[in-house]
Amino acid sequence: MLDYDAVRTRFGIREGMMTAPGRCQVAVIGGGFTGASLARLLALKSGMTGCVAVFEPRPELGRGLAYDCADDALRLNVASHRMRALPGAPDAFHNWLIRTGRLESDPAGRAADGAFYARRGDFGRFMSEEMQSLVQTGLVRHVRERVQNLARDGRGWLLHGDQGSVIHADEVVIATTHPDPRTPQALAGALEGHPRFLGAGDSWHRLDAASPQDRILVLGAGLTALDAIASLRSRGHKGEIVLLSRSGRLPQTQALGTLPAYGTFTDPRPATALALLREVREAIADATGEGLPWQSVFDSLRQQGQALWQALSEPEQQRFMRHLKRRFETHRYRMPPQISALLSHEMRHGGVRNLAGQICRVERSTNAIHVDIITRPQGMVERQSVQWVMIATGPDYGGLIGSQPYLQSLADARLIRPDIHGMGLDVDQHCRALRRNGLPVDNLFVAGPLTRGRFGELTGAPEIAAQVETLAGHLAARLATAARIDV
Ligand SMILES: Cc1cc2nc3c(=O)[nH]c(=O)nc-3n(C[C@H](O)[C@H](O)[C@H](O)COP(=O)(O)OP(=O)(O)OC[C@H]3O[C@@H](n4cnc5c(N)ncnc54)[C@H](O)[C@@H]3O)c2cc1C
Repeated sequence: MLDYDAVRTRFGIREGMMTAPGRCQVAVIGGGFTGASLARLLALKSGMTGCVAVFEPRPELGRGLAYDCADDALRLNVASHRMRALPGAPDAFHNWLIRTGRLESDPAGRAADGAFYARRGDFGRFMSEEMQSLVQTGLVRHVRERVQNLARDGRGWLLHGDQGSVIHADEVVIATTHPDPRTPQALAGALEGHPRFLGAGDSWHRLDAASPQDRILVLGAGLTALDAIASLRSRGHKGEIVLLSRSGRLPQTQALGTLPAYGTFTDPRPATALALLREVREAIADATGEGLPWQSVFDSLRQQGQALWQALSEPEQQRFMRHLKRRFETHRYRMPPQISALLSHEMRHGGVRNLAGQICRVERSTNAIHVDIITRPQGMVERQSVQWVMIATGPDYGGLIGSQPYLQSLADARLIRPDIHGMGLDVDQHCRALRRNGLPVDNLFVAGPLTRGRFGELTGAPEIAAQVETLAGHLAARLATAARIDV
């Protein structure tokens, strides 16, 4: 029996807020692309109302962090015909763009080779529309709350939302992805609360207050940092933007044209990170000899990525993480042609500077923030005086468990553990969470980028869609078995 008083006290639930405990068979925590896709497939497979509940505080399911944006300057980094978001309907998104007139009304989306790079917000709208009909028919229940706590309840689970909902589920899937970036120590102390400092999670709308000529320091040089440049320029900002990252490596550009993936790396699979690197170099040389760009080789690596990653032993995976990860990522996660054109223009005309180095000191004055940087490889201290500083680095992988009270309580109960590379949560081949002792929890699953430590390549929408398709099949089979047993 549920002890309501204990629940009220522990989670600060006020009188009158608690709803009667509901039930569902599968509760999904997080309704971004991963959670929504899984809920959609499961609802379609089971066809039962009330079977799937998704906890997601955002008003719409399917958008999540990446696609919940109204900024037209932010585009997908793959062409729309390659998004393959809905298993079994690879052209669904592209056809939706045609049907809704977006392909026509957004000429800036068209690259020189004719491929269309849609606005990220449009992809979010497409996913959200897919989910709306399921929510309206009751096949998916959208609980607009953050899960605060997840605890054992007999053989199932009890989920506590931050607005008072308490739901019992037979199975739970974690799909809340990685936490926001961490503000580096040197900045955190000096700029806490500064009106012109945009830390992790701060809305970029605050940049509307920037004067057109303000200098801006962006921490990070990945796709999010490039988003920041596109977003600023689309707001009419003209001042210099300085990108700062440890390596100074920028994402590479997509190749134009419809090109085949090139290279087979799985026969046999390289057993070491070095052997993999050698094979990739050879494949690039061969591809070039056949008139294909290196991007074709990385497209092939992407397709075989999960098999390749899992063929490496843990020490070899660690070697990859130490020596090759950043270089791999800049080639794998490429910028769309529109951003590439903008960046080359800006760099040619002095609008954007890209620095490698580390912050050693930060000072505030009335009109500026002074940031001293030890540059690489020179090791000299260079001062950048800017009006704004913004964080656009990658997620705080190491802070994952502490970032969510429900994950912390699962870890305290020894029901989850971080993966060995610190990229997410440890899971088995079936996406079941692994306890601290390494044994799986039978009815607790993890989906999406949080499982990269196990599977490797699992960031892009097509790979996530493929993973949740398998997981939905597995869960649907479990539900069918449970139903037969109940009868
Ligand atoms: C900026 C960006 C651009 C990208 N562009 C592309 C692209 O062009 N092409 C491509 O293939 N891939 C792209 N990706 C990669 C990929 O599609 C996304 O990472 C993917 O959307 C991940 O979805 P997700 O649902 O796992 O995570 P998220 O989208 O982050 O969703 C997680 C959801 O969980 C919710 N949540 C968090 N905590 C709780 C809680 N306690 N209770 C309930 N809900 C909670 C959040 O509100 C959020 O909506 C991009 C990723 C990013 C970040």
